Amino acid sequence: MIIAANFKMNHTRASTVAYLRELNAFISNENISDEVMIFPPFTALDRFETPANLTVGVQNGYPAQKGSFTGEIGLEQIEEFGIDLILIGHSERRHILGEDQPFIAQKFDFFKEKGFRIVYCIGEPKEVRESGIDAVLAYNFKQLEGIDLSYEKLVVAYEPVWAIGTGLTASAEQIEETLSRLRDRIKAPLLYGGSVKPANTKEILEIENCDGVLVGTASWEVESFEKMLSISKNLKK
Ligand code: PEP
Repeated sequence: MIIAANFKMNHTRASTVAYLRELNAFISNENISDEVMIFPPFTALDRFETPANLTVGVQNGYPAQKGSFTGEIGLEQIEEFGIDLILIGHSERRHILGEDQPFIAQKFDFFKEKGFRIVYCIGEPKEVRESGIDAVLAYNFKQLEGIDLSYEKLVVAYEPVWAIGTGLTASAEQIEETLSRLRDRIKAPLLYGGSVKPANTKEILEIENCDGVLVGTASWEVESFEKMLSISKNLKK
């Protein structure tokens, strides 16, 4: 299983250090063997010492080594921290920051070329979900246009937009059906994201074709994230 935490625009440099100190100890004391990914904000990045199964990644990156891209962070800055894991295509970047599919595919190609592990996010808005599974799949497959699904360092996170940060979770049936249809085309690990929290982690992780979760809000308190790691550890899947 892959259990990933997206801090979004939360946590400071100091609180990220405290979070990772606590999490490192938890992972070794509790013998957590799942793969853990943490995506802090850029300002909190550092060369953290972590157990082998905990990787720190970036929530975004500009597809260039360096250059005149005011306000952006490129490969040169990311590599300074020894980071080779990136989140691409998150719905907040697509829908709030206005990233379109050609630009997202360009980012994907750039970071693939550099050998990064890529957690690539897809997911449909509410009105598409209400139109039924065929519309959901068509929408999600459009978000895979230009993406090399055979890339060996790819992880795909299915995150319905209407379930992100809203407290609404897709039902187990909706997740199962969507993941199984995505699985027809995607051999990479498939994560689910969208209001995952300790209370629903077990049910979600038990779903066929679900290889883990990408967690926003419920990951920001380290104790809550640790609860999800314990649930995954005790799962017989
Ligand atoms: C996310 O940001 O990827 C996410 C799933 O957020 P939340 O858990 O808050 O819905």
